Formats: sequence, structure tokens, C-alpha cells
Amino acid sequence: MKITDVKTFLMEGGRRQWLFVKIETDEGIHGWGEGTLERHEKAVEAAVHAVAIRIEGRDPTQVERLWQSMYRHGFWKGGPVIGSAISALDQALWDITGKVYNQPVYKLLGGQVRDRVRAYTHAQDLTGARELVDEGFSAFKTGGWVVGTNEVNEKEIPAALREKIKAMRDEVGPDVEIMIDNHGRSRPYVAIRQIEAIDDLGVSFFEEPVPPENLDSLQLVRNANIKTELATGERLYFRWGYKELLERRLVDVIQPDVCHAGGISELRRIASAAETEHILVAPHNPNGPVACAASVQLCAAIPNFKILETARDMPWHDTVQKNPLKIIDGFYELPTEPGLGIDLDEDVIAQRPYSEEGAHSSYVPSVNAFDGAPEDV
Ligand SMILES: [Mg+2]
Repeated sequence: MKITDVKTFLMEGGRRQWLFVKIETDEGIHGWGEGTLERHEKAVEAAVHAVAIRIEGRDPTQVERLWQSMYRHGFWKGGPVIGSAISALDQALWDITGKVYNQPVYKLLGGQVRDRVRAYTHAQDLTGARELVDEGFSAFKTGGWVVGTNEVNEKEIPAALREKIKAMRDEVGPDVEIMIDNHGRSRPYVAIRQIEAIDDLGVSFFEEPVPPENLDSLQLVRNANIKTELATGERLYFRWGYKELLERRLVDVIQPDVCHAGGISELRRIASAAETEHILVAPHNPNGPVACAASVQLCAAIPNFKILETARDMPWHDTVQKNPLKIIDGFYELPTEPGLGIDLDEDVIAQRPYSEEGAHSSYVPSVNAFDGAPEDV
């Protein structure tokens, strides 16, 4: 079997511009991957075609051999653009390989270690929290910076966060897991004050308390007298991006993204490295349907899995799939079809072309301080 073509598709997904990759073979079997990197979709699309040169004409079922060629023969390593390109191609190679052997990908990863995959989604307010609990979810995540408070003096943020989380806790009761994503927006002093403010409210983890590019800042938060668990990792790439974070045990939960950190192959290795340090994995997964399917396959097979992020309110997420995955009572059922267990409808993709407007504004607006100075989004 040989790879005959690698195609890319950009689709306006609603809250993201999705980048899909399709690998075709001389035996008529195809595989889907996804490398969505919001605001940088076209950079990843170009990178996919640059990386694909190294696997075209080769046997797609030699996934590890091709992964090594993609990673090592490019000379330049790491980063979100190359990471997302290799991730997309890796997912598609696994999809093809599963179809060749007529097994779901998790069967090729050693088989499932769990019968279903627990998912969480997002709530910004009390109504949203109540709705998803009523839908059957037992966990949700919300923002650490109360919406609109970026223009408020940062000293007011901890009290505002407490008020928000306390109201959510009162609304959903003690048994629903609440997680907080701080989007790496705080300096260490503020992050510590935020966590102190919610430390008695049973929050499952506080994510990206500080910007991800300085582990010493994260260490300051880690050293504080707080008991809430910490999480990070959606903006780290390949196993070397996680090495020091894991060895220093700076968080309790890591959040690699199958779209960015090196695909199914690399996330499995990153999960094993985390297992060595007794750290759990809660994959970042706000992108499109192929990334979600790849995440479900991975989560079925890794022992130190905690919970999988899942995005709602994206009508095209299911529409573009021929056989969308199902969430029942807050859990993904394990697919039984071969490969990733999904297929995309190219006619639907063609109905929703890439939009410059969406690329610039639809997902995360620019955030500026009260005086107009740019802040982290
Ligand atoms: Mg996050």
C-alpha cells in the first residue's frame, strides 16, 4: 500500500476554522486528520504540504516509521505549526491503519482500558451550567477571568471569581466537577490570589494559571499554600515540550492536544511520561470532529486519563460527519468502526469555505487593558 495524495480542506466550523487533512492511498482507503490551529490555519495548511513530501509514496501503515521521518527529517523541530501539521498527518495514518486491519485505533494501541470516555464541556454562567448538568454532564469548565473584567483593576479579579464560582457551586451542588481555565492571563501574584479565593469551593483544577512559556512562574504558583490542583499543557508540543514540566511535577493534570502536540502517536508517549510522575491527562479538545474522534480513541487506551474536553454549540461539528460520535450521559461511547470511527462529508465541507472574517474575529476577540495595552487573549 502506498500514499498517493495528501489533501487539505479548510472549513468554517462556527467557532473555529477547521483544517482537515485527507491521505489517499493506491488501494482506495483514505484517512482523515485534523490540524486546526485557530488564527493560524493557513500556516498549518502550508506546513502539512511541506511535511507530506516526506511520506508520499510510502506505506501508511508504518505509522511510527513515518512519524519519525516527519519529525526528524525536517531538521526544524517543535512549535505549534509543525506540531499541528505532524499531528494531522499522524491521525490520518492511524485512521488508514485501523481500516487496513479492520479495527478501531484503540485496539491497535493495546485495546481499551475503559468502557467509555468521560467528557466535560463549558459553562460561562449559571444558566449554561444548569443546562449541561441537565443534559447529563457531571463536569464543566469556566473562565478564570470573569467575562468583561479584563478592564478592571486586577486586584478585583479574585473576589469576582469567587462570587462567580460560589454561585455555580450553589447551582449545581457538590457532586458536579467544576474546573477553571485562566488562559494563562495572570502574573503569578494574581494567579495565587485567584486560587486562594476559590480554594474552598472544591474546584477540580485551575488551568494555565500563568503564561505557559515560563515554568519558573508556574513554580511560584505551585509553591503557594493552596490545595486546588493545577493543570496546563495545551500550548506545549511534542514530548520534549512536557519533559521539564513533568519532571518538576509543576501540575497535577496535563492537557496535550492531539491536534498540536504530535498526534495520537506522541500523545500516547506524553501520557506514559506523565504516568511515570503520577500525573493525569485531560486532553485539550475544543477543535473539530476529527480531532475529537482521535482524542476519544487515545483516551480509551491510556491508563492515566482524567476527562476529555468537548465543545458544544457547534452545529456543523455533527453535520460534517457521516456518522458522528455520540455522548450519552456525559460519556463518549467507544466507536466500533475501524480507524478513527468517523468519516467526513466533502460536500458539506465545500458548503462552508474558509472565511477571512472568521479567521480574524470569530473565536477570540483581541483583549486590551483599560489603557489600550494588549493583553493575552
Ligand atoms: Mg485552556
